[in-house]
Amino acid sequence: MHAVISGAGISGLATATGLAGLGWQVTVIEAAPAPRRGGYMIDYFGPGWAAAERLGVMPALRRHGRIYTAARYVDLHGRTTGRLPLASLAHVTGGRYFSVLRPEIEEALRESLPPTVDVRYGRTVTAVQQPGAAGSPVGVTLDDGSTLTADLVVAADGLHSCVRRLVVGDEVDLLRPLGFQTAAFTCSHPELAARLGDEVLLTDVVGAQVGLFALDLGGREQRPEPDRGRVSVFVIRRGGSRLPDDPRSAVVDELARQGAWAAAVADRVPDAPYLDVVAQSIVPRWVHGRVLLAGDAAHAVSLLAGQGASLAIAGAVALVDRIAADEDLDAALAEHERTWRAVVEPVQASGRRAAGTFVPRHRRDLWLRRIVLRAARLPVVSRRLASGLTGAATTDRVLRRPRARRPASSRASDRRSAGRPRTSSRPGRCGRGRRRGAS
Ligand SMILES: Cc1cc2nc3c(=O)[nH]c(=O)nc-3n(C[C@H](O)[C@H](O)[C@H](O)COP(=O)(O)OP(=O)(O)OC[C@H]3O[C@@H](n4cnc5c(N)ncnc54)[C@H](O)[C@@H]3O)c2cc1C
Repeated sequence: MHAVISGAGISGLATATGLAGLGWQVTVIEAAPAPRRGGYMIDYFGPGWAAAERLGVMPALRRHGRIYTAARYVDLHGRTTGRLPLASLAHVTGGRYFSVLRPEIEEALRESLPPTVDVRYGRTVTAVQQPGAAGSPVGVTLDDGSTLTADLVVAADGLHSCVRRLVVGDEVDLLRPLGFQTAAFTCSHPELAARLGDEVLLTDVVGAQVGLFALDLGGREQRPEPDRGRVSVFVIRRGGSRLPDDPRSAVVDELARQGAWAAAVADRVPDAPYLDVVAQSIVPRWVHGRVLLAGDAAHAVSLLAGQGASLAIAGAVALVDRIAADEDLDAALAEHERTWRAVVEPVQASGRRAAGTFVPRHRRDLWLRRIVLRAARLPVVSRRLASGLTGAATTDRVLRRPRARRPASSRASDRRSAGRPRTSSRPGRCGRGRRRGAS
């Protein structure tokens, strides 16, 4: 069996590892010319923990993982307005929680990628053809004109998925913006890194938030050389779907507005910082013949829900388990969509709820948050907050292997109810969506 996977991000690499483990031939098509180095800090917890263990990548992830002791909030004058002890996050997740850069997750996954997997950088899919009868192979055309034939195509090319556009339709109808824009970059600032230490710094202002993380925990841990004196920065601000024409200036201006801590990195914004709308993918069907949408392409939950990376790995493991358990690939895909939707849709709903409160709209929201943060000094309150932050989906229930192969009759009825389409290709080139920057 041959799978073509569009995207060598977290979802694509995890799926490639899992399918190669089943003996599949796997080709991964990645638009970036080389592994992406830019990125942002990710809180890693939830179903992706057990999934990473299953894939054998947890030792590598742990090597990269960082434990910050607290999130410290500061106002425009640099005064500390609250402190959320992060030990409570470790507590409610049973110690299965750390912070890790997105490119470090990808690096860990690449390390475990079987050598048989063919990863092609600097390439994109330009057309997908499913001409034959149900279950027949899919034709894939790449931007260099070459063609591949696959038993399964996995669209793991992120929020602005190219394969999704070719097979399902324009993202305008499939992305739900949550009213924010986000930017991220890492920079060298040894003095700031030392001052941050092992605390995450979050600005406590109206309309936006900046987060600063010292990659080397202020030198308090023996970290690899590339981390020394470096700081990871994210910015989130209220805003619509129209991205600024000059992302760098927009990020510099926002940092300058957020007080001295944030302004300290304003002169280190790269020429093309990552900048995008904060949105969820709401896609009515993930399975289109032998094309499956996965990860953010199928079900982006957004950074407001904070489990996208975890769900990308866990979803890959759930898919591979399902394929291993069912001789009928089409039935396995339909069943995967049915069971995995039940996991991700509540997380998406929690992300939408968080959109109302994530960034204070008015001064009174600020005050309310400060009162809550003050109460968080009490362990019982901080654990409550942590439970809320990590969400209800923090469960390994979703990763139980499917029990047995089901009889052919029930698989046939699945196929009928899934209403499997005969998708035709929509030739054309894929742009970079609305996202700006290199990450
Ligand atoms: C600022 C920020 C903070 C976040 N914080 C968290 C967090 O704390 N916890 C958490 O779990 N999640 C977090 N997330 C979400 C998480 O990063 C995503 O959910 C996760 O990366 C999704 O993985 P993916 O592989 O599906 O997509 P992506 O990571 O987007 O990977 C898609 C891959 O496809 C490639 N690609 C794109 N277009 C094409 C094309 N046309 N052809 C071929 N390849 C293509 C891309 O280059 C990339 O390699 C955050 C996201 C952001 C933006």
